[in-house]
Amino acid sequence: MADDGSSTISAESSDSSQGELASPRVVKVAVIGTGLAGLASAYYLATASNSRVQYNVHLFDENSSIGFDSSSVTAMDGNGIERRIDVPMRSFAGGYYKRIISLYKSLGLQFHDAKFTYSFSEVEEDSGDARTYFLHGGRQGTFRQGGKPSRQGTLKWTSDFVAVIFWYLYFSLIAALSTPKGGVSFENAVSPQTAHKKRFGNDEAPKGYGTLDTDDESSVEDGSREIESLQEFARRWHIPAWFMDRFVVALFCAMSTCDARTIRNAPAADIIDYKRKTFGQPHYLLSGNSRSAVAALTAPLAKENIHLGVAVKAMLSEGTTWTIRTVAEDYHHFSHVILATAPSRVAELHRPLVPVFRDIKAKIVRVIVHTDDRVLNFLESDDIRDLNLLKTSIGTEATHVLFPGIYQTTSPTSLNGDCGEDYGGRIAKSKVISESVFERVVRTNGLVDAVTKMRRRQGQHNVWVAGSWMWDGLVLLEGCVASAEAVCDGIRRKCGDDPG
Ligand SMILES: Cc1cc2nc3c(=O)[nH]c(=O)nc-3n(C[C@H](O)[C@H](O)[C@H](O)COP(=O)(O)OP(=O)(O)OC[C@H]3O[C@@H](n4cnc5c(N)ncnc54)[C@H](O)[C@@H]3O)c2cc1C
Repeated sequence: MADDGSSTISAESSDSSQGELASPRVVKVAVIGTGLAGLASAYYLATASNSRVQYNVHLFDENSSIGFDSSSVTAMDGNGIERRIDVPMRSFAGGYYKRIISLYKSLGLQFHDAKFTYSFSEVEEDSGDARTYFLHGGRQGTFRQGGKPSRQGTLKWTSDFVAVIFWYLYFSLIAALSTPKGGVSFENAVSPQTAHKKRFGNDEAPKGYGTLDTDDESSVEDGSREIESLQEFARRWHIPAWFMDRFVVALFCAMSTCDARTIRNAPAADIIDYKRKTFGQPHYLLSGNSRSAVAALTAPLAKENIHLGVAVKAMLSEGTTWTIRTVAEDYHHFSHVILATAPSRVAELHRPLVPVFRDIKAKIVRVIVHTDDRVLNFLESDDIRDLNLLKTSIGTEATHVLFPGIYQTTSPTSLNGDCGEDYGGRIAKSKVISESVFERVVRTNGLVDAVTKMRRRQGQHNVWVAGSWMWDGLVLLEGCVASAEAVCDGIRRKCGDDPG
């Protein structure tokens, strides 16, 4: 027990480099948050232990189960078969998710092509009725799966279809050839040594730098870089607003779970980069669900180092040691701390980062797993696809038909905008299997600047930040792995254990 009567977990023995010649130096690292960013950070460090340095990694999460899988559920489908359901969806596409694919492969995890088919509908402002305007059979779909919506006349559909295909090909060509202004590509990120050499002409990286800096000289601290929005990019290339709104904006609203205005104003570079890299690529799902990834990523950690249901309340610095204080008033001592939580929580725990994160915006997103088929009543039954997008004046509702009779509805709405308890009679409470709420960071210019600033502060006082948002790309799972890789490389460099 500590002096004040509270319990204390093991005094820090790490980072001393005073051990016997033959034994590795033990560096104790706390990872706060067990979403994919925290799990990947812990995994990379735990498996990086070698004859010189051994990383003793502890994971903390306020959830009673690992965050990456804590909202997932098990339910019976309409045929009485028990199904595991990832909440939220954890899909990843070829081309864009290179790091995640490589990580999952190295862990021996199985994943499969989801072969999604899509329906696109919109709520008409004057009547409040929903109209299906496009069906898409996906990458490998049949012509029928992508055919004419039931309620559309053949002539109108044919002319619309030709126009959509023309603008889709034009948009794809522009995305392949044109680079939006002001984007920072993660591929341009270089090591601190390279960045320093470019600026100052010598090899020595300045202390306190994170692992990555950017090659882009214009990405300065004051946020003065001109960043072209998606809307500006579309105007520059004369892409009609109806095409952008009905297809590009509607899709990215569903993917990023945010409103249409945010997507129109989002950095075009992110969206074009995603479009370019995923063109013609499959969308994958983990065959063993998120829990297969959780099992593989936590396998190298000692069970007693995984602290679940333990909310971290404060971080206190004492010389070279960080003391983590939990809500239960337990104290744990570490050399390095990785904050792998939403930025609002990072700033609560480490106040010096408040000004860095000031302009980051986040949205609350609701995901309902349920059995109420009325949610798709706006569609003719022949038009129901795997992913059914409903564009409203605000954003996009997405209903994924998971299994016979089981639906996952993200950002549910009532058609008339009055979201009562049952979403305008669309999802009865009695048919809800689970209802989850997530905080999702929105990719805005403010986030672009915050990430640039944070990158310069990575590792200062041995505090590191990882998360799906902590990279130069859309707020998706790939950002978790990219930021985890960067943070772990940084810690290893600081420990004199160069990852090469
Ligand atoms: C509805 C929805 C659908 C999505 N679909 C996809 C998709 O298909 N593909 C894709 O690539 N991305 C998708 N995303 C995005 C992606 O899932 C998230 O961005 C990503 O999972 C975030 O991971 P993270 O590790 O950064 O943070 P999180 O998963 O948010 O983890 C942070 C963890 O920190 C814990 N925590 C916070 N504060 C404390 C504290 N003080 N003490 C202890 N623990 C704390 C939390 O409990 C949480 O478990 C989706 C997001 C949403 C919301």
